[in-house]
Amino acid sequence: RQVYAQQQALEQHAKSLEMTVLERTRELIEANAVKDEFISIASHELKTPLASLKGMAQLLHRRLIRASSPEVASLVSMENSIRRIEVLVNDLLNISSLETGLFDLHCQRCCVVELTQRLVDEYVSGVNPHPVISTHFPDKDFEAEIDVERLGQVVINLLSNARKYSVTGSPIDVIVTRQEQTYTISVSDTGSGIPQEMLPFIFERFYRVPGVEVQTGSSVGFGLGLYVSRQIVERHGGRIEVESTPGKGSVFSLVLPLPAAPTSSDASVEDAS
Ligand code: ADP
Repeated sequence: RQVYAQQQALEQHAKSLEMTVLERTRELIEANAVKDEFISIASHELKTPLASLKGMAQLLHRRLIRASSPEVASLVSMENSIRRIEVLVNDLLNISSLETGLFDLHCQRCCVVELTQRLVDEYVSGVNPHPVISTHFPDKDFEAEIDVERLGQVVINLLSNARKYSVTGSPIDVIVTRQEQTYTISVSDTGSGIPQEMLPFIFERFYRVPGVEVQTGSSVGFGLGLYVSRQIVERHGGRIEVESTPGKGSVFSLVLPLPAAPTSSDASVEDAS
């Protein structure tokens, strides 16, 4: 009888434990949904005033340049700050659309090298002092199906990290190569590098390598850029690879699929139409 009583008590205990776990899980799911909604609303609400702030700063910039005003330098630093907030808000917006599943790609066929060069030029001209970025394009004329906006954001994120985690003025290299079924966009820097044991975590959301300093004038970041980048690259059917040596630098490579070559049966269907 004693054993039976003990068994009953154990079963009762197990049941109440199960209830607690279920309740706790439900609470966590609800809290997570509230958090996602908050991030989504907050980032949308921030985007509009930020856009008008950016527009006004650009207008003022043009006027001050025309008037040869010495205040241009202050305005440039204000524009840099606006750009940094913009990156953070975009990361938050991206994460909210990733979490809620509202994340479609709008791919178009475009020349990979032209796109990469344009992104590098845009990035260099938008940052002060202008970073030193060399490009190497051994294979020039090939196209791929790309969501230009989203993949552009990934490349800009890699360029921004390469600059952010290096000494001011350090060289950054961008290389685009073509393989049989894939192409690779690599961004390498000679910055702080990442310890081997941290590499598996850097693509997790909100992860930042502890104790790493960013270049003066760069924003610290939320640890979201690589998480968002990986989602975008994987949606394109690709992957991100990283090689890094602490104190020497890092190479981040986007390996993406090339469109399948048309088969002979595709050609005959085209001929027939
Ligand atoms: P963050 O906004 O913090 O830069 P990311 O998701 O882009 O977030 O990167 C995650 C972490 O990975 C960074 O906090 C940094 O510690 C490390 N990291 C990313 N890129 C580099 C790089 N090029 N060199 C050194 N560390 C890097």
